[in-house]
Amino acid sequence: MVYRAEYIWIDGQKPTGKLRSKTKIIAEGEAPPIWGFDGSSTEQAVGKDSDRVLRPVRTVPDPIRGGDDKLVMCDVLNTDMTPHETNKRAQCAEVAEKYASHEPWFGIEQEYTFFKDGRPHGWPAGGFPAPQGGYYCGVGADEIWGRDVVEHHTEACITAGLEISGTNAEVMIGQWEFQIGPGDPLQVSDEIWLARWLLYRIAEDYDISAHLMPKPVAGDWNGAGAHTNFSTNEMRESYEPIVAACEALGKKADVHIKEYGAGIESRLTGLHETAPWTEYSYGVSDRGASVRIPWQVARDGKGYIEDRRPNANMDPYVVTALITDTVCSDFESAR
Ligand code: ADP
Ligand code: MN
Ligand code: MN
Ligand code: MN
Repeated sequence: MVYRAEYIWIDGQKPTGKLRSKTKIIAEGEAPPIWGFDGSSTEQAVGKDSDRVLRPVRTVPDPIRGGDDKLVMCDVLNTDMTPHETNKRAQCAEVAEKYASHEPWFGIEQEYTFFKDGRPHGWPAGGFPAPQGGYYCGVGADEIWGRDVVEHHTEACITAGLEISGTNAEVMIGQWEFQIGPGDPLQVSDEIWLARWLLYRIAEDYDISAHLMPKPVAGDWNGAGAHTNFSTNEMRESYEPIVAACEALGKKADVHIKEYGAGIESRLTGLHETAPWTEYSYGVSDRGASVRIPWQVARDGKGYIEDRRPNANMDPYVVTALITDTVCSDFESAR
């Protein structure tokens, strides 16, 4: 017998890489092998030298096909087996290994917007919906669009064994969120990409498309972010490292903003539960700050922090590597 493995990878589109996938039929009992693809069709190679390598990095049950079928998250290599320049996972792996003794954990809140017939799902043709206010965590056919897709996607993430920790309807019409974590940088990042792929793939069957654009509708509508919750073993034990981590992120705020997703200026305006992208701040319970210390963390004197700046379209390999590097290198230099 054979099984089907869906090989999933990130292409070379700029400024934001897009997911691609293709199917390999594999003999029963064999692990998904290294495979290849045409990099000249994904902006990862030129036609004269087009072969690029797919290296399986995380294999999970395929919740759509079922049975013995698998989803195979891959990273992209050159034919000499060095990481391709678009392969951000390889850098994330280096940082994760360097600072493994701090046991960094991440939980990412992935917001996204459903589109149907070229407009946000629920947006009336040729008019305007009711202003935002009732959509967040709402219920009822006048507030909620796409719940069938969300339920299907959540079930698929659970069946695939992903560390999904919750979902909710968001502030803007047709906008939703799922959370993955906590887990180490590579696990959470691989799983965010797998969960994104499942979302696009499942929504396809409903004739709906999911988008990660940071500001789908200009004006008085919330943007879509990817709040990134972070802790190290030191932060999970006492409060001083919580504050130190917030300070460390502030020292490198410019570097971080540049790596937190294309179009970040359009979303981090200072309105709609964001801090302006030009100013760094942190505070307890403050949803208008760049970084929030959740109230339970202030009460317990330990826990984690929430970096509210990353866009929905960020690359989790880039963001988790950068936060780990900034905070852990600061902890080590303060020793
Ligand atoms: P919000 O109140 O901002 O909407 P959510 O409940 O949506 O928060 O998301 C919180 C995220 O924080 C979850 O993904 C959860 O797994 C993650 N998280 C919880 N504890 C930790 C921790 N110690 N370190 C890192 N992430 C954590
Ligand atoms: Mn949330
Ligand atoms: Mn949210
Ligand atoms: Mn949040």
